[in-house]
Amino acid sequence: MRKSRNLGILAAGFVAALVLFGQPVPAHAATTQVAGAAQQTVGTARSTTAGQGLTAAIPGQAGLAKTNVPDPAALPKTAMPGAYPMPGTYEISFSHIRLGSATPNAVIHYTLDGSEPTKDSPVFDPAKGAIPILEFGAGANNTRQTEKTVVVKAIALSAGAAPSDVATLRYNFVVNQPGYFSYEVLREAAPDTPALIRISDYARVNMFLVVGSKRALLIDSGLDSKGDLYSLIEKLTGGLPFDVISLHGHGDHAAQTQNFLDKHIRVYVPHKDLSWFGDKIPQGTLDPKEGDTFDLGNTVLTAYAVPGHTVGSMVLLDPKTGDLYTSDSLGSNDPIGPNSGLLDDVGIECSLDRYYTALVDLRKKVNGRAKRIFTGHNPLPLDMKYLDNVIATVKNALDKGESALVPSIRPPESTYGSTTMFAYGDYRVDPNSVAINPKYLYAKDAEANPPKIIKGYLNPQARAYPKQ
Ligand SMILES: [Zn+2]
Repeated sequence: MRKSRNLGILAAGFVAALVLFGQPVPAHAATTQVAGAAQQTVGTARSTTAGQGLTAAIPGQAGLAKTNVPDPAALPKTAMPGAYPMPGTYEISFSHIRLGSATPNAVIHYTLDGSEPTKDSPVFDPAKGAIPILEFGAGANNTRQTEKTVVVKAIALSAGAAPSDVATLRYNFVVNQPGYFSYEVLREAAPDTPALIRISDYARVNMFLVVGSKRALLIDSGLDSKGDLYSLIEKLTGGLPFDVISLHGHGDHAAQTQNFLDKHIRVYVPHKDLSWFGDKIPQGTLDPKEGDTFDLGNTVLTAYAVPGHTVGSMVLLDPKTGDLYTSDSLGSNDPIGPNSGLLDDVGIECSLDRYYTALVDLRKKVNGRAKRIFTGHNPLPLDMKYLDNVIATVKNALDKGESALVPSIRPPESTYGSTTMFAYGDYRVDPNSVAINPKYLYAKDAEANPPKIIKGYLNPQARAYPKQ
């Protein structure tokens, strides 16, 4: 089985994004402008067609006498656009990017077909959200992987400055097919500590296999219901008995529930989340409760309820190692598309203030014992600061409401129509940053005071309140 190969690229992306995508961060903007000035000496000799078009279009200069029109070659150059996420190779089947320039108020034109961008090319409008640049379904053919490359070209234009150089941003997407699982051993087994293996399916959903001295526990079971996950777990546990727990009932974390039940494996799924299985509710699952323990021999994991993402959402703490497994309970800050904490079950138990209380409770319960956080979609572990940041973000949303919203990194298609989010930290450079795309702000008592719907948050296809 192949190890995930995008970790290094993602880590590198956080650093390189500083230089390429500086506009919203003044300190970074300075860096970018220095780089732009250096490029100017090289670039002035080869003015692009798009650039010539822009100079004529600069507002405010049309009425000037011809002799006063500055020589385009003498003008400072607009900073070349950058993008987030960074160009590179990603194991995903869809993506979307945001463009930026270090030059304030620069207008960025782009193409997605490899052609040269001009002033007539589409404009990137931050208010309208990120640009979807790819979507191709897994299972499109019978090969193990599908690869596709998308080249984004972008040019930044600004008044009183020469056009930027054209940025060529190359994205290579590698999509695994259903039935294909990859894994990486994050910690080898030792007499006193369990082994830890991260398993990923074609949809890049995390599963964590904790292998103790007497038993093993598979945490979440992914989106792929067809692959032979059972055989992989049997192999990785070396024949130890094992149980399965889904920390919440969403389909991308519990797809193998029935398959494991068919093999007579004990499967725990919060019963408050069973409605997420629709009309195929598996029979015979166990309902994990706050305080339940899972004895693996050399460690005992404890479950805690954190209602918010779903009404049944839970986390698991391994006090021996300090590992806190959270599935989507704290959101999942995937560097490719931050989406921490979408609240999906609307109701009193999952109101924003109830979620805040649950988070603060969790911090008290695990304080001093949890050291790192493994979420449901981020390949990288996060440190405990991430929990603090989620709490701060939710508090900010509660205190300031809509006035705390900032442009979302995700396109409206994947945020139920939202083009804004609540954020904490800089997603481009801080792995522990938080970005929440909520559908609703909740009244304290949802039944007495129906939740206020944030303008633009709800598309007509989104589920109505209350959930039936
Ligand atoms: Zn979920």
